[in-house]
Amino acid sequence: MDKIPIGISACLLGEEVRHNGGHKRDAYITGTLAQYFSFLSFCPEVGIGLGTPRPAIRLISSDRGIRAVGSKDSSLDVTEQLGTFSQAAFDKIAGLSGFILKRASPSCGMERVKVYNEKNMPDPVGSGIFAAEVMGRFPLLPIEEEGRLGDPNLRENFIKRVFIYHRWRTEYLETLTVQKLTEFHAQHKLIFMSHDQNQSRALGKIAALANKDNLASVAEEYISLAMKTLKVIATRKNHVNVLQHIQGYLKKQLDGDDKQELVEVISRYHRGELPLIVPLTLLLHHFRKSPNEYIQQSWYINPYPEELKLRNLV
Ligand code: SF4
Repeated sequence: MDKIPIGISACLLGEEVRHNGGHKRDAYITGTLAQYFSFLSFCPEVGIGLGTPRPAIRLISSDRGIRAVGSKDSSLDVTEQLGTFSQAAFDKIAGLSGFILKRASPSCGMERVKVYNEKNMPDPVGSGIFAAEVMGRFPLLPIEEEGRLGDPNLRENFIKRVFIYHRWRTEYLETLTVQKLTEFHAQHKLIFMSHDQNQSRALGKIAALANKDNLASVAEEYISLAMKTLKVIATRKNHVNVLQHIQGYLKKQLDGDDKQELVEVISRYHRGELPLIVPLTLLLHHFRKSPNEYIQQSWYINPYPEELKLRNLV
């Protein structure tokens, strides 16, 4: 498998670009994720010519809006430079399928970055200047912070979004036809159901409207709603609905004991006693004996490489 290109704050790869000359190498990113993702690194503060080491900067609220200024010397204002750097990076970012940002940074932080008021009191309500520009320009791009990747649900959600967005960009978007849009929806429908059943139905209706004259606009509407739907964390209740739906494809193949065992395992998953991988493994065991084309083609079964073990913890 070719590695998926994603952007990253350079300090997370171990590059010594922080204001103090240090780095924030992240072992999960550089160890596990590096086996599947190739990284294009950005350090906006180094990119605008601030050296390493350099004065720390922070966000302040002012009558000119949020500004990025020196923590000790507020006459050092790099807001415009950071904006210009970000916009110059857009061409490169357009070729990426995800982005991992450094939390809490006045340049890279995705959310809850401290913004200081005129009384020098911090309020965690901001986004870094670079992060805000990237999120504004690429609203569909899966973006996450390294700190949040420690949460199994957020990690699973982000990585799944990267794989799906990458598939859309590289295997569908350029060569899209009405048939391919229908196929994409059929293969991802169960995933959408696990995130939001109503949105999954809405996506089906949008895909069904496509014809060769309106394909571009329908596809845009479809993928916008799809990526928004995937941002919602999939709940156990929704997964249970999907698992029961999948079980329905086996109703003629399973005997009473097998059915009872599946019901019990899905209930235990619902109660939080088992991770998602357990009912899925049991279902797959039955589908190996009784293959079903729709289930085989669904990305719900294997949305990312199994070795990532993401479903062992959710
Ligand atoms: S958080 Fe962003 S700006 Fe700060 S050192 Fe890391 S990459 Fe550079």
